[in-house]
Formats: sequence, C-alpha cells, structure tokens
Amino acid sequence: MLLKTDAVVLKQSKFGEGHAVLTLFSKKTGKLQAVNKGYKKSGGKYSVGTQPFCYGEFVLFKGSGLYQISQVDLKDSFYKLRENVIKLTYASYILELTERMVTEGQTNNRLFYTLLQFLHIFSNFHKEYETLIKAYELKLLMYSGYKPEMNNCVHCGNNYKEKIKFSVNEGGILCESCFREDSYAMQISKVTINVMKFLMDTDLEQISKLKIKPNVLKELNKIVKEYIYTYIDKKQFKSLQFLESIKE
Ligand SMILES: [Zn+2]
Repeated sequence: MLLKTDAVVLKQSKFGEGHAVLTLFSKKTGKLQAVNKGYKKSGGKYSVGTQPFCYGEFVLFKGSGLYQISQVDLKDSFYKLRENVIKLTYASYILELTERMVTEGQTNNRLFYTLLQFLHIFSNFHKEYETLIKAYELKLLMYSGYKPEMNNCVHCGNNYKEKIKFSVNEGGILCESCFREDSYAMQISKVTINVMKFLMDTDLEQISKLKIKPNVLKELNKIVKEYIYTYIDKKQFKSLQFLESIKE
C-alpha cells in the first residue's frame, strides 16, 4: 500500500542498525510512524527531509509492519529554528506537545496548518517567545477538543460578574456563586481572560505582533500549564525541563 501525504517530522529515533524511525504528523492520516532505512549512509537517499521539524511530501510504503519511507520531497526544514538554543528548545517543546496530542489514523487539519504556520513564523521570530508559545498551546487544546469556556461560567452558564476564577477541572471560568465547585480554582484577571480569548480566536500572524504584559503572561503561564498537565496525560516535557535548567 502506498501513501502520499504532506507531513511534518515530529520525532526521530534510532531503530536497529543504521535505521531510524520517524514519528510524522501527516495531513492524510494524523500521527504515524515510518522507518527510514539506511539514514546514516552519507548522502543517503532519504537523509534529506527526515530531521525533526522538516516539512515535505512523503511517499510511504506499508507492507505487513510499519510504514517505510520511499521518498521525501522537502518543502521546508525551518533551519532558522536552530539559530539559538532557547528558540530551538521552545520549538522542540511544541513538537513534543503536538506528538502527545495527535492520534494515529485521525486527521486534524486545523492543527496541522497551525503547526506549519507556527514553525514558519517562529523560525523568523526574534521577540518574546512566550506569546506565540501560549497561543499555540491554546490553539492545540482547542483543536483537540479541550477548548476552555471563557465567556460564561462553565458550571452554571451565567454571565460572570465581578469576581471570577479559572477552574482547570471544570474547564473554564467560574462565577462567584460557583467557586465552591472547585477549591483548586485559580485567580484570573479580566485582562487575562481577554488575552486568552484573543489567543484562541486570532491568527498567529497577528498574534506575533502582540506584546503581553509580564504580570498577565505570568498568570496565563500558570493557568495554561495546569490545563495542559490535566488534559494531556503527561507531566514531564524533556524540552521544558531543559529550558528551566538553562534559565536558572
Ligand atoms: Zn456559576
């Protein structure tokens, strides 16, 4: 069986003697694993386009086992992501997060194009990285069916008044009369609510021009981090741990 599809390389791992197995986010069938035979051979036919971040058109062959790569037509390697270690680490985190979220055999075209757009903008980006990272995280949650409710109280459906909290467990904001529903609900300001809505509803290109105030970013970071840890069954991201260690 032959499969021809656009895909982004999310991960590359060693596989036996001189082979590699790639985890791809494909447009046609979501996450898939494909063996890249003989990737180590110098000038090997398939060594171009098989590094993480590479985007191209893949021709894959499937026999009885895993897919095998028979051809790659590289469209973009996003090489500028490697221009500094912080940028590369953030970008690696985005791949790790995406890999965790996409499912085998299930397309997610909105996320696929958002990832491509993210890689494109981020590779040419030189400002505060966190804004784009938060935007991608929120879009990823939204396109994976975990959009937080930010307009009305997630518990009773009423419009919120003055006091509001954010409940990770309930999946959105809580009005004051519903605070008791979740004793772990977190403080959230109205500015942060509006920023979250903006990040979910606005195109990444426009978001890249936005500057978020440090205190809002701090609140946002805390909420999104908790949200991801709750809805994505993973507590550790290697790339994030590394980032923490070099930031110290
Ligand atoms: Zn309520």
